[in-house]
Amino acid sequence: MSLASQSSPLLSRILSSSVAVANHAGKIIREVMKKGELGIVEKENARDLQTEADRAAQRCIVSSLSRCFPKITIIGEEGEEECHDAHQQVFDPTAEIPVEIQCPPHLVSLAEEEIVVWVDPLDGTAEYTQAFECCKSDHQGVCKTLGVTCESLLDHVTVLIGIATGGKAVGGVIHQPYYNYQTPGSVLGRTVWGVVGGEVGGMSTVSPPDGCLIVTTTRSHSSSTVNDAIDALSPSEVVRVGGAGHKVMLLLEGKAHVYVFASPGCKKWDTCAPQAVLEAAGGTLTDIKGVQIPYHASAPHRNSTGVLASAAGQQHEVYLAKIPQHVKDNLKA
Ligand code: AMP
Ligand code: MG
Ligand code: MG
Repeated sequence: MSLASQSSPLLSRILSSSVAVANHAGKIIREVMKKGELGIVEKENARDLQTEADRAAQRCIVSSLSRCFPKITIIGEEGEEECHDAHQQVFDPTAEIPVEIQCPPHLVSLAEEEIVVWVDPLDGTAEYTQAFECCKSDHQGVCKTLGVTCESLLDHVTVLIGIATGGKAVGGVIHQPYYNYQTPGSVLGRTVWGVVGGEVGGMSTVSPPDGCLIVTTTRSHSSSTVNDAIDALSPSEVVRVGGAGHKVMLLLEGKAHVYVFASPGCKKWDTCAPQAVLEAAGGTLTDIKGVQIPYHASAPHRNSTGVLASAAGQQHEVYLAKIPQHVKDNLKA
């Protein structure tokens, strides 16, 4: 018998399968990049893209999890039609060596019908496509336009699988397909998971430094309200990077104290997994007004009232109180 045995609580089994599936999705993402045919499609606008990596990773995650857990509700970022593929190979997570994940006592008797899984098959698509374009061009790895090394943009890419019940994020998996990309000889990719009220696995979390305030925010979806919210915190440093998953990883790694996004563009699949992992580590993620984000199957996809997340040990309420009222008023539910 492989995978967490059938006697393990459902939440442990879904999370364990999600770790295996996210690793596989990461391989798919790297293969698409290597092949060099990204198949880019514009979604809401030119800053909101979908690639073959997004589609293929979602196909893999949704088909694999729904095969193992047929009665759970799965909501993926990419449209089902674009992701349909009659010849797809379903990945079998039960063939992998399982990670043992403890389930807190109050969540041991969940039924599949009570579970909603929010899937972002590739968070940080803007950075994934820019890294591709950047690496293709003839500037030996340092992009003059973007002012960064091409490869560093790949650190912004994550696969996010968030598990909710009763409208709350309770478990999450964040996979970084390009972790260690620039360290030859090391294992490529890393998967981190967390259960709220339980523990974080796959990494050692670190507290951010005392005596300064590092704020992380978007690098490709900025606006005046995003910047007004950041200015109001008087940060000593602002780290502008892609992906909700990557920014929450910075909080877990002690590289930032707060993640601020005072804009309506982020969706439930961007925040469910990161929120669960962050809260398992003792941090907090709410909207910009301090209200809990709901993760019921019927919840609107868009986080229209923004996002504010703080690392473990930070005073979330203090940051919320500093966000200007006009910024809060501008973001309506
Ligand atoms: P960012 O911090 O800009 O990388 O955004 C985090 C997540 O929210 C990514 O999945 C983005 O695609 C999504 N997002 C944020 N703002 C927007 C927007 N204005 N339009 C579409 N997606 C957005
Ligand atoms: Mg995303
Ligand atoms: Mg995505």
